[in-house]
Amino acid sequence: MKIIKRDLVIIGGGSAGMRSALSAYEKDPTLSILLIAKKPLGVGGVTAQAFSDRMAFHATLSYTLPPQKNYLYHALDIYKIGGEVSDYNLAEILAKNSESAIQYLISIGVPFVRDKEGKIDQFLTDGSIYPRACYVGPNTAIEIAKALHRKIKETKIEVMENVMAYDFILKGNRAVALKAIDTSTQEILVIQAKAFILAAGGAGEIYHQNVFTSEMTGDGYAMALRAGAELVNMEFMQIGLCHPNILFAESGSIFRALPKIVDENGKEFLLDYLEGEDRENLCALEFKKGAHWPVSYESPTKVIDLAIYYHTLLGHKVYMDFNNNPSYLIFEHIPDEILRWSEKVGKEIFKDTKPFERLRIINPTIIEWLKKYGIDLEKDRLPVQNALQHFQGGVTQVFGKIAGESAIEFAKNKDFVEISEEDLKEEIKTIGIPAEKARKRIKDIMSSYGFLVRIEEGINKGLIELSEIRKEGIALDEHGPSYYLETLNMLDVAEVILTAIKIRDESRGPHLRFIKFEPPVMEFLPKKENWNKYIVIKKKNGKLSYEIREPVRPREDIK
Ligand SMILES: Cc1cc2nc3c(=O)[nH]c(=O)nc-3n(C[C@H](O)[C@H](O)[C@H](O)COP(=O)(O)OP(=O)(O)OC[C@H]3O[C@@H](n4cnc5c(N)ncnc54)[C@H](O)[C@@H]3O)c2cc1C
Repeated sequence: MKIIKRDLVIIGGGSAGMRSALSAYEKDPTLSILLIAKKPLGVGGVTAQAFSDRMAFHATLSYTLPPQKNYLYHALDIYKIGGEVSDYNLAEILAKNSESAIQYLISIGVPFVRDKEGKIDQFLTDGSIYPRACYVGPNTAIEIAKALHRKIKETKIEVMENVMAYDFILKGNRAVALKAIDTSTQEILVIQAKAFILAAGGAGEIYHQNVFTSEMTGDGYAMALRAGAELVNMEFMQIGLCHPNILFAESGSIFRALPKIVDENGKEFLLDYLEGEDRENLCALEFKKGAHWPVSYESPTKVIDLAIYYHTLLGHKVYMDFNNNPSYLIFEHIPDEILRWSEKVGKEIFKDTKPFERLRIINPTIIEWLKKYGIDLEKDRLPVQNALQHFQGGVTQVFGKIAGESAIEFAKNKDFVEISEEDLKEEIKTIGIPAEKARKRIKDIMSSYGFLVRIEEGINKGLIELSEIRKEGIALDEHGPSYYLETLNMLDVAEVILTAIKIRDESRGPHLRFIKFEPPVMEFLPKKENWNKYIVIKKKNGKLSYEIREPVRPREDIK
């Protein structure tokens, strides 16, 4: 076992981890800073790999509208799009510091697109009243990751790649060392530090359908939980329409071009699962889907996600066809809101055109981008499925910076704490469900009961099945110790998520609770005003407990 000592250790090499490492270093380059990442920088995590046709960094710049108090409008939008279940004061910090965050990214070489006057261009996107989305193109996050990585290489920040953190060693309520494993050699490492930053990203891999890199098994959440931290809002996660094989969210312009949505037999199946107004308004709904991505209870477009989900459940594959118009697209019936929007983009883009031509007008970049992945929309149909996109977050530059600065300050004022033989004892079970099998069961449970459609009976069943896995235990198998440790983490995270899903007995944002789901009959548990609160889950003496907490609300003067 190798023992390492550094002043500050950052766990995770995505946008959050890299930004925090840089801000810590910029504050005090004399302390030793180590960043560990489970996959090489630029290979692992969502920042370095995922993209969408409207990938953007939201910022309030000096000229962002409205002319006065612009960042307060931004904060309020964050709070509202967050379902009013997160702390407003954090939203205000995020909005207020977004300009300095983007200036930093520009200073390290992120090539944000500018308008004719040289100002950073901003477009309007879901949840915003004013345009704030700054972009490089589909690769906005990838460009951010590249720039942060380049900058790290110019510093003395030490980076260890292919190293997976799996537990903290605690003294009192402080983490004093980290247990980690080299995923290539399976050697155990113990890393003592005065301060740690946990930035290990989301837990997409606990679902079969996700747009995460494969190492994202929720280790950070599980480690934090076992160390006594509170996990908040775990029932909320973005589920949207994505490509099944590449990490690509099929949002904005993809839908606005109004492609024909078909199955493997070319059947336009959406109408089969819709009724009443939804059937009549399908054209408008499909268009709106471009602005209402991902699924949200508050958006009428959720019926499209649910129809695709149901059709897939019946064993079909779903595609977007850009060479044929949907049967329900009749120019004379196109709602005014679409025509008004289309006048801005190019006159009458829906008249006598095909979806491919429209996409070429709306967002030509994405057509070229997809060709890099072997998809030519002029010939090929674009596969689509519901997939887990992000857990709470965004390209976390503001809180990454704050975390780095406060952790380095903390490290300066602390000493190392000795650890004992007892702390290093490890229990690896060899009796129980082999890790691979257990992992599959966890993913099956979460994908069936804790994904898009959440029904009381299924949630209870899922919780029982997870507790059975815990009772039987997970055993080391031929995939080795790091795979085994990941699987234990997945079980911890799955239990927390499903528990939170059960407690919130309403629908809100991406959390869709149903009384009945038999399309076209989709009976939701409605949104409840008394649920404008968040769920906090902790683990104490090996047991989960929860608290329902009132968020910090917006100040009276800015509501
Ligand atoms: C398709 C898609 C579109 C998106 N669009 C937008 C958008 O338009 N705007 C926006 O703001 N956000 C968007 N997001 C969200 C945003 O990309 C993420 O929230 C953000 O990039 C996450 O950064 P992160 O540093 O927290 O995690 P990641 O970038 O996922 O990095 C996690 C890091 O932790 C490492 N790691 C994991 N486990 C361990 C462990 N046990 N030990 C050591 N290291 C570990 C990983 O290898 C990786 O280096 C999108 C996400 C997706 C998937």
